[in-house]
Amino acid sequence: MELIAPQWIAPVVPAGVVLEHHALAIDDGRIAWIGSLEDARPRWPDAPVTELPGHLLTPGLVNLHTHVPMTLLRGVGDDLPLEAWLRERIWPLEGRLMSPRFVADGAVLACAEMLLGGITCFNDMYFHPEEVARAALDMGQRAVVGIIVIEFPSSYGSGAADYIRKGLETRDHLRDESRVSFTLSPHAPYTVSDDSFRRVAALAAELGLPVQCHVHETAGEIRDSLEQHGRRPLRRLADLGLLGPDFLAIHAVHLDDADIELLATQGASVAHCPHSNLKLASGLAPVARLHAAGVNIGVGTDGAASNNRLDLLAEARTASLLAKGLSGDATVWPAHDTLRAMTLAGAQALGLGERIGSLEPGKQADLVAFDLSAVNTQPVFDPVSQLVYAAGSNQANHVWVDGRIVVRARQLVHPPAAARLGEVVAGTRLWHNRIVETLPAGLRLSGA
Ligand SMILES: [Zn+2]
Repeated sequence: MELIAPQWIAPVVPAGVVLEHHALAIDDGRIAWIGSLEDARPRWPDAPVTELPGHLLTPGLVNLHTHVPMTLLRGVGDDLPLEAWLRERIWPLEGRLMSPRFVADGAVLACAEMLLGGITCFNDMYFHPEEVARAALDMGQRAVVGIIVIEFPSSYGSGAADYIRKGLETRDHLRDESRVSFTLSPHAPYTVSDDSFRRVAALAAELGLPVQCHVHETAGEIRDSLEQHGRRPLRRLADLGLLGPDFLAIHAVHLDDADIELLATQGASVAHCPHSNLKLASGLAPVARLHAAGVNIGVGTDGAASNNRLDLLAEARTASLLAKGLSGDATVWPAHDTLRAMTLAGAQALGLGERIGSLEPGKQADLVAFDLSAVNTQPVFDPVSQLVYAAGSNQANHVWVDGRIVVRARQLVHPPAAARLGEVVAGTRLWHNRIVETLPAGLRLSGA
């Protein structure tokens, strides 16, 4: 048993509550109790107490959409629209560089960046998911790992059926790891066939796995789907049996009223990634309308090649500001709703809402203590408002996953983490040189 006694606790459930001078008790990786500090001390007189004056304790942040190995491609495809970004930069580079080592090194960099910003859980989609899972475990993080489904071959596999087979093998190998869970991850409607989507729907039902897919990201995707399939992508996925409460629509930028109705009636969730959508000029997701329709919306950074930061706090702030600006209503996505979007909403979208996402007895102790004593967050009237509208992710001072401290005073302290990160950082110059040499003829990065 150990006690954490921050100045404030924002438990997310009950909604809108901030507790002051309370303590949270951790036992065997779980939240055992939350109550006043006065009650806690006599109850557990021998328990160590971590006092955190000036800190706000929240649930660990859940990054609802990532491609973590793409940290190694950060900055190689700036200032391009999605189609050119994918076809001229990302896919050619991935085609030549993809390997277990590439995935592992990129993932370790991403895990370190995310942990230092208070992200305790991320939801990934990439090749070699076994390496992503291993990186998260080594770094002390929680991960939801995608079983990638895409038609084209890579060094990881020959096509959709091979990727599914390998992904399910990885799931078997890691079935005892409580910090790793899985989704079926068809990449996008324009890269996955009807047959593969049907297979995914059947497997999801059989294995009880969530399904995630990039959908309605650009106007061109919808135009092409209407030409090739006679339907908008979400309608096509619904007809193939993919939609339901375990379906996560990534991006969901271009939505008409029928699309929103479909997502709402199916109980699907949305991974909102505003920085990636802005940077690729894909468009602006109608989150206020989705929210009004009752759709569960979490926030994701997307990969570092299209963001280029894995900073969920910044992402959620942009989400809140865009929701207000686009709807013309300053009352939408208030600070407490924004905190919920980057914690519990993400957890629920991944089927983890019973285990993480809020500070309630019985849940896993995935926690962040944000230090609000910095000059940019003084004075504190409402700590959740300060967190959402004023704080930086570098104010995530201490982080716990499963009750184990993994970041203390802005340092990675999970035993394998510092060593793993040291090796990877030492190797990034080599990756840089290989990436520059591998760029398609005629394309040069500035400074290369
Ligand atoms: Zn993505």
